[in-house]
Amino acid sequence: MREIVLHDTRTGDLLPLRPRDEGHVGIYACGPTAYSRIHIGNARPFVVFSLLKRFLEHEGYAVTLVINVTDVNDKIYDAASAEGRASAELAEEMTAHYRADTDALGLGRPDHEPLASGTMGPIIDYIEALVAGGHAYAVAGDVYFRVRSDPAYGSLSHRQLEHMDQGEDDSGPHPSAAHKEDPLDFALWKAHKPGEDTVWESPWGAGRPGWHIECSAMAEQLLGLDFDIHGGGSDLVFPHHENEAAQTRAARGRELARLWMHNGMIQFTGEKMAKSVGNIAPLHEVLERYGAATVLMYLISGHYRQPLAFSDVVLEQAQANVDRIREAGRRLSRGDSPAELERLRDSFFDALARDFNTPEALSVLNEWIREATSQTWDSPGDSHLREMLGSLGLESLLTPAAEPPAEVLVLAEQREQARGTRDFEAADRLRQEISEHGWEVRDGPHGFELLPL
Ligand SMILES: [Zn+2]
Repeated sequence: MREIVLHDTRTGDLLPLRPRDEGHVGIYACGPTAYSRIHIGNARPFVVFSLLKRFLEHEGYAVTLVINVTDVNDKIYDAASAEGRASAELAEEMTAHYRADTDALGLGRPDHEPLASGTMGPIIDYIEALVAGGHAYAVAGDVYFRVRSDPAYGSLSHRQLEHMDQGEDDSGPHPSAAHKEDPLDFALWKAHKPGEDTVWESPWGAGRPGWHIECSAMAEQLLGLDFDIHGGGSDLVFPHHENEAAQTRAARGRELARLWMHNGMIQFTGEKMAKSVGNIAPLHEVLERYGAATVLMYLISGHYRQPLAFSDVVLEQAQANVDRIREAGRRLSRGDSPAELERLRDSFFDALARDFNTPEALSVLNEWIREATSQTWDSPGDSHLREMLGSLGLESLLTPAAEPPAEVLVLAEQREQARGTRDFEAADRLRQEISEHGWEVRDGPHGFELLPL
């Protein structure tokens, strides 16, 4: 088995993957908050961790991937009340959109997609354990985590306590926030407020959970403690992931996860974008404009830890790369690739094994294509390319083209006859007609070939 190393935010080092359970890797990544359609930035962790799962499966591991959906949250209450709707209905609608939008990426679903609203029992149990252990306290129907009770607090984000702002508005209209023992403390349970239309009963009164506790509860429920990889966007390191880690240490005396992986943000360059995409870039609009293969190619064109610029230029580059691979696929036969190219296939997977370096892997894949399509081999097999593309979610690039419709075949045959009689004018006209039907005709050594445009 290849040695796999991944960057761990907590230690700042590349750590070898040493699964808790031999041969099995558990991954938890924080998913979206269901208050609007997701944008291209939300798609990045979905793609990174779905593809990491594919790569680990290629390497022989069984993988369980969990990506949650936050369906109870201030943003949802705010968006629903602005639209005059029930928050649960908005969250349900946006969760369905999220599923459909990410389905369109063609990567399948995570193994589990828990909802906060479906995890209330375990969430309340978790908070009770924290209160019983002296790590949390109830004030006027709220429950807060006592940050200074966790000596390891800050060990993930490496912030000094004085530079930590939980982002909770302590000056707001809700008076109990002012009752925090310490401004560093954060909410585990929030008492019901007027205007919030979903509410759950708890030992501290009616209310709903804070954001951070849901992930500690869901991850433990589905993957256990000390699971292998916790992931998410780099904007979640503090406070969200710091707080998840603290809750689990305090309640269970163990770490939540062995390794913390964070993806960089998508950066909007300020360059004017195609009108339909705009600068907010909802995923479904980007997919409509560019297609799933190009969007995936774009998202893996940079290293997952780095920021990634979003612009028409980089998407067009991704499109060109997709076209090049599709074109190369047409020049290969189905079957075994030349043994001489195995070293490149191996370097591709070695690059993924070194902190999931997709840009390096892509450059090796392109080198494989250059060699395979050079003059050395007569119609080489595509098995290596199929294997590499499968790990990137791009196996569809090798799907054989659909059969051309009968009328297009007739036109192509007429064109072949016109060429036979050297009537190039008619041949050109027929080529034009064929392209109006969405097909391209090419003249190969064994007659014409029809390719979808
Ligand atoms: Zn989370």
